[in-house]
Amino acid sequence: MSRASDGGARPGKPDAPLLSLRGVRKTFGTGAGQHVVLDGIDLDVAEHQCVVLVGSSGSGKSTLLRAVDLLEEIDDGQILLDGEDVANPWVDANAVRARLALVFQQYNLFPHLRVLDNLTLAPRVVHRRPRPSAEADAHAILEKVGLTHRARAYPDQLSGGEQQRAAIARALVGGPELLLLDEVTSALDPALAGEVLDLLLALRAEGTTMLVATHEMRFARQVADEIVFLHEGRIHERGTPTQVLDHPQRDATREFLRRLG
Ligand code: ADP
Ligand code: MG
Repeated sequence: MSRASDGGARPGKPDAPLLSLRGVRKTFGTGAGQHVVLDGIDLDVAEHQCVVLVGSSGSGKSTLLRAVDLLEEIDDGQILLDGEDVANPWVDANAVRARLALVFQQYNLFPHLRVLDNLTLAPRVVHRRPRPSAEADAHAILEKVGLTHRARAYPDQLSGGEQQRAAIARALVGGPELLLLDEVTSALDPALAGEVLDLLLALRAEGTTMLVATHEMRFARQVADEIVFLHEGRIHERGTPTQVLDHPQRDATREFLRRLG
């Protein structure tokens, strides 16, 4: 029962992964200050699959996730969503972003809005949903992330772990096809990180399609179909958790894992 092997089949789109990056290149700066951050990235995420990005700070994980969410323009290559290249200027970026959800390390919630209103803002304002139906959906999602009792609280009344669970809840509103998670636990104490990671494992078990950057190798091992090790803008090594974490083939991968302890 491998989730990885059956993940590519999509109705009407046999074998097309949900997300494909082809030769993605991104540089920052110009002239002597030019810095290649993504240097020809090829990556696939099939439906119901979880791909985990690992690599040292500065290796390009956030840039890659932001590029997929069309927050960074790429210099070359393709970002295919369901086979359609979304990294071109003709594409409606908001329509693409509606199919994706990106959660960052911190500052994900609107501080002046209660948790419930954080979840219903986009449906009500952008999609003109009536309040009762938007709130019914929001309550269902809050229940799923274990925050029913915090619906009326403001973000600063929540623990860091609750804030991130609320942020993930907000990301789930509207049923995104792909969840992009950028080090969502790295600002949290281990105990609070644990409750967020447990939530992500539960979403994973439900078949949520995810592309995740993390430093938590134990979590990566549990959640990943594929681990992708980024180094100096390239995919240096990739494979199953056992392949990459237990039997790394490249010196840079070994060094990275050794430093993490
Ligand atoms: P990671 O998430 O793996 O730590 P990032 O994608 O944040 O890596 O950063 C990769 C590299 O790109 C770093 O060297 C960083 O300094 C650089 N970088 C990221 N964003 C910008 C930016 N807006 N302008 C210039 N350089 C940037
Ligand atoms: Mg980052």
